[in-house]
Amino acid sequence: MADVVLETRQLTKEFKGFTAVNNVSLQVQRGHIHALIGPNGAGKTTCFNLLTKFLVPTSGQILFNGRDITMSKPAQIARQGIIRSFQISAVFPHLTVLENVRIGLQRPLGNSFAFWQSEKKLNALNDRAMALLAQVDLENFADTMTVDLPYGRKRALEIATTLGMEPELMLLDEPTQGMGHEDVHRVTALIKKVSVGRTILMVEHNMSVISGISDRISVLQRGAVLAEGTYEEVSSNPQVMEAYMGT
Ligand code: ADP
Repeated sequence: MADVVLETRQLTKEFKGFTAVNNVSLQVQRGHIHALIGPNGAGKTTCFNLLTKFLVPTSGQILFNGRDITMSKPAQIARQGIIRSFQISAVFPHLTVLENVRIGLQRPLGNSFAFWQSEKKLNALNDRAMALLAQVDLENFADTMTVDLPYGRKRALEIATTLGMEPELMLLDEPTQGMGHEDVHRVTALIKKVSVGRTILMVEHNMSVISGISDRISVLQRGAVLAEGTYEEVSSNPQVMEAYMGT
């Protein structure tokens, strides 16, 4: 039997009578990169907001490792290991890249957020932060002010910060949005690299990104699941072609 990390059962979200997410049942398998795709307005962002508890579902269930987390609070979800990659706005622009990763590490290493740390603790934090930067090929930018990082590298920083929280399930929200070809290529390779031993659920528009790295794809249309399968399966589905590929 498949090892399912995250499952939604008939997840539904209505906004004043408008159904943005309609009976969505998903299963994300452990170790997979699972992509959520669909045309604009399909309900992808609303789904993510339900999973991270920014929104409360109208009905349906969310299970994480078989436990019902439908009514859990955002902080509880994060503590259990579901981490959504930080938006750029959550990164401090006038701190260095290393400082930003170090701040993100305070909680997982059991440190209280304090400006005064013992030297030993500070060294441990620095070492861990540098290791994370190396994982996302940012070690040469450690002392760069975050505000001065090139756009594509900022996404890598977000990923490093997210990794620092030791996610069991990483949620990536359009990780290549607004990027040029070279950055798309770099971030795609990075996602593949950090996916080893992890589970990733990502919303992504760029089909070349999805085709290269996704194990499973769920296609949403008007709030409902239109199709699910491998890239080959969904990309040869005529309904999907009509709804999404051709747009
Ligand atoms: P996607 O991310 O696939 O583009 P969204 O989840 O953002 O789609 O939106 C799905 C639908 O729900 C859209 O029609 C959108 O206008 C609607 N919607 C999203 N959030 C709200 C809200 N807070 N209030 C009312 N309608 C919303």
